Amino acid sequence: MTHYPYLIVGGGMTADAAVRAIRAADPNGAVGLISTEPHPPYARPPLSKGLWKGDPESGIWRGTDSIDVTLRLGRRVTAIDPKAQTVTDDQGEVTRYGTLLLATGGSPRRLPIEDDQIIYFRTYDDYRRLRALANERQRFAVLGGGFIGTEIAAALRMAGREVVMLVPEAGLGARVFPADLSRFLVGYYKEQGVKPRTGEGFAGLTERAGTLILKTTSGEELQVDTVVAGLGIQPNVALAEQAGVRVENGIVVDELLRTSRPEIFAAGDVANFFNPALGTRVRVEHEDNANTMGAAAGRAMAGQGMPYTHLPFFYSDLFQLGYEAVGELDARLETVSDWKEPFREGVVYYLRDGRVRGVLLWNTWGQVDAARALIAERGPFQAPQLKGRLPHS
Ligand SMILES: Cc1cc2nc3c(=O)[nH]c(=O)nc-3n(C[C@H](O)[C@H](O)[C@H](O)COP(=O)(O)OP(=O)(O)OC[C@H]3O[C@@H](n4cnc5c(N)ncnc54)[C@H](O)[C@@H]3O)c2cc1C
Repeated sequence: MTHYPYLIVGGGMTADAAVRAIRAADPNGAVGLISTEPHPPYARPPLSKGLWKGDPESGIWRGTDSIDVTLRLGRRVTAIDPKAQTVTDDQGEVTRYGTLLLATGGSPRRLPIEDDQIIYFRTYDDYRRLRALANERQRFAVLGGGFIGTEIAAALRMAGREVVMLVPEAGLGARVFPADLSRFLVGYYKEQGVKPRTGEGFAGLTERAGTLILKTTSGEELQVDTVVAGLGIQPNVALAEQAGVRVENGIVVDELLRTSRPEIFAAGDVANFFNPALGTRVRVEHEDNANTMGAAAGRAMAGQGMPYTHLPFFYSDLFQLGYEAVGELDARLETVSDWKEPFREGVVYYLRDGRVRGVLLWNTWGQVDAARALIAERGPFQAPQLKGRLPHS
């Protein structure tokens, strides 16, 4: 039976960052990585952004395969035996570990229907499939107006396709942005030629004479060629649950990213960790967290752990608009908007009980660290104190 002092389940950005950190801390200990995907680790953000703007596909690969690590790709780990410190994969192979990292990420939420016509966009293979269809077909429907839905709709539109969006909420990014900004985005997307249908959801999908008929909750039938869904993800916790590791909105980890079994670690989209600046546990589904937490987990596995106190940022592009954001961006919080030009450039502060919980830097760059520092301050803040607090670009 193969034994790895360091074994990683998952082949995403978290896994790549962990491999690199382990290698830096321990040049000799063997590292194994088992991933369901047939590809070595790659960056996901370009799949809905740069690759549609002409960036080369060759730029997405993380180069994990050029580090001293054994990659076992196209295999799903199906069971962990924490007592024996082994994992079993779907080819029946058993591998022993000294320390184990669960970097299993998340899987797209799916509609309760069996239909392989819907692309639940997450992976490089999903990108390849959608890209090929975008070369052949004209009419696309995007389900969901959140992070992935808005990016994919923009990408398809920039590729010259007809795009209709079904968005059950009143605006785009409605769970994250203040209501006025979320409504502005509906008009902005319309100006770009996208047809967002707000307050309207998915009710069914049938096929007639080679055309897909998308039924909406308002009873309309839309003729489309392809349906893409961006309905959020669910953390892949089944393995952790089977292993008896504590799970609660993700795999619960301590400050050294250990699960309730100290030789099993978790990091990235799947991990639920305590963030000191926010004073609460969070699970973050973004790149900065995957990279930083993956590296922190790798160091901890190699015995060089430091408390993970990083407050991650995230970013997105929506046609010509773009943003960076830090902390808790929840549209239900009180918000204070400080626009240089309304909805085009400015800063939005998210507050609870007078304390800044999150900062949205809308077309405003270079302020991520200042936003982090503001969130770490206790406050309380009044709205006028925040105006001009972070400079516009
Ligand atoms: C299209 C897209 C665009 C994005 N854009 C941005 C952005 O602009 N900004 C930003 O901050 N974030 C963005 N994100 C989010 C960011 O990509 C994720 O936070 C990050 O990829 C999470 O990395 P991860 O390694 O933790 O999880 P994942 O990327 O989900 O990787 C998990 C890996 O584990 C494997 N796996 C799962 N279960 C098993 C098992 N049982 N056995 C073996 N392998 C298993 C999976 O196959 C996968 O390879 C985007 C995500 C997507 C999908």
